[in-house]
Amino acid sequence: MQELDVIIIGGGPIGIACGLEAKKQGLQYLIIEKGPIVNSLFNYPMNMQFFSSSEKLEIDGIPFISHEAKPKRNEALEYYRRIVVSNDLDINLFERVLSVKKERDTFHIQTEKDGYRAKNVVVATGFYDLPNTLGIPGEDLPKVSHYYKDPHFYASQKLAVIGASNSAIDAALESWRKGAEVSLIIRGPEVGTRVKYWVRPDIINRIEEGSIRAHYNSTVKEIRKDSILLNTPEGEIQIENDFVLALTGYRPDFDFLEKLGIELSKDDKRLPTYDPRTMETNIKGLYLAGVICGGLETHKWFIENSRIHAPIIIEAIKKDCTTKNQGDRSI
Ligand SMILES: Cc1cc2nc3c(=O)[nH]c(=O)nc-3n(C[C@H](O)[C@H](O)[C@H](O)COP(=O)(O)OP(=O)(O)OC[C@H]3O[C@@H](n4cnc5c(N)ncnc54)[C@H](O)[C@@H]3O)c2cc1C
Repeated sequence: MQELDVIIIGGGPIGIACGLEAKKQGLQYLIIEKGPIVNSLFNYPMNMQFFSSSEKLEIDGIPFISHEAKPKRNEALEYYRRIVVSNDLDINLFERVLSVKKERDTFHIQTEKDGYRAKNVVVATGFYDLPNTLGIPGEDLPKVSHYYKDPHFYASQKLAVIGASNSAIDAALESWRKGAEVSLIIRGPEVGTRVKYWVRPDIINRIEEGSIRAHYNSTVKEIRKDSILLNTPEGEIQIENDFVLALTGYRPDFDFLEKLGIELSKDDKRLPTYDPRTMETNIKGLYLAGVICGGLETHKWFIENSRIHAPIIIEAIKKDCTTKNQGDRSI
């Protein structure tokens, strides 16, 4: 089995940026992705519009042309797919990485299909796979989802949206516009302050005019077949309900990181340990890239500010490979 210079786990925008940079620098590399190309983006809401303008989502300076200044999900799929295909990147799709073990200077990567060896590993697995659950009775009912896809599904239905961030507000507005009767359940006293600046007035106006019912300072106590039970400042109330979208955020796969031996901070942020100059973790040759770096601070890193990880990491790996090769020649 050939030993590669680097294996990149995760074929999201940042994993792809790392692969592209590795190819440009002449490294032997492979990206391993458990789903399709940019799996997280593929699973985003159908009509989702990025808050970043398209040039801020570009990797390696490859122009990203979109109809409006801020691209839609479909345009981003097109952009990242074209990068993979036209650069003929080495990427194995629909292959989940199960474990990574280091013996001496070699990483052994086991997937559900095969085994690989590499001198370095980049973990770019994002956080979109694991939703923050509510831990309440009824959360496992089939009418409850932690992912929102298409508003058509909720037309003429009583929909409860839990959350106050961009995902929740987009879902509430879109579904209401397609004929759903929407209730928003918000833990705090207001709509999230990080909601896109052009969307926030829209939701506030819809709430004020009574089109969308908002329950502030409220939490869901229980989800039942035809209703939900809320804890509100006015006491416990029950509202009729057909579907629940619990859009309360997502978290990185900490078990996976810990199994790899990556140290996490002991505070509630669970920040993984890495050197920001190289993105190398506490394990030599094991790097972190993209949103995974933020631990539970999932808003800290996004495509716009983490695409820089790719050149930083590949430069560090290239330096290390060059030093090792020189060492091998002098033996
Ligand atoms: C609704 C929404 C809107 C957003 N809008 C913006 C925006 O406007 N601008 C912006 O900059 N950012 C935005 N973001 C954030 C942005 O999408 C993420 O920051 C970006 O996807 C991070 O890229 P990544 O490559 O680090 O992680 P991801 O895109 O999550 O990629 C990780 C990949 O790893 C794969 N993977 C996970 N585990 C394994 C495994 N064990 N084996 C193999 N593969 C694995 C996953 O399938 C996934 O494809 C938004 C996010 C959301 C949810």
